[in-house]
Amino acid sequence: MSDCLFCKIVAGEIPSSKVYEDEQLFVFKDINPKAAVHLLVVPKIHLDSLDDVTSEHHDLIAKMMLKLPELARSQGLENGFRTIINTGPDGGQEVGHLHIHILGGLGLPGFN
Ligand code: AMP
Ligand code: ZN
Repeated sequence: MSDCLFCKIVAGEIPSSKVYEDEQLFVFKDINPKAAVHLLVVPKIHLDSLDDVTSEHHDLIAKMMLKLPELARSQGLENGFRTIINTGPDGGQEVGHLHIHILGGLGLPGFN
């Protein structure tokens, strides 16, 4: 049995505020939002991080990226949004299951 938090969320073993789901992706609200809108986009298969991604995952990664604008719009983000992928301890990754953050709303600060 996987001990991964996001695998458990995908499996419905831990509750989440689900926003979207299909055969490959699961999208839910971040439990500790850093902006008015803060979603997490995760693949249903377990990948530790972007460091685990290979050419075998080409279609999955493309699908995740292509879905982002639609997900942002579905949350009312009509004027743009920010995406973040933290990778590894030095990248500030806290949950070891690949995820893309979508953040937006109420004027995000600039990124310097
Ligand atoms: P990262 O630092 O990129 O690994 O981001 C992990 C994110 O997962 C953080 O923004 C957390 O607030 C979020 N998070 C942790 N536990 C949960 C949970 N049970 N449900 C939703 N989001 C969570
Ligand atoms: Zn996992």
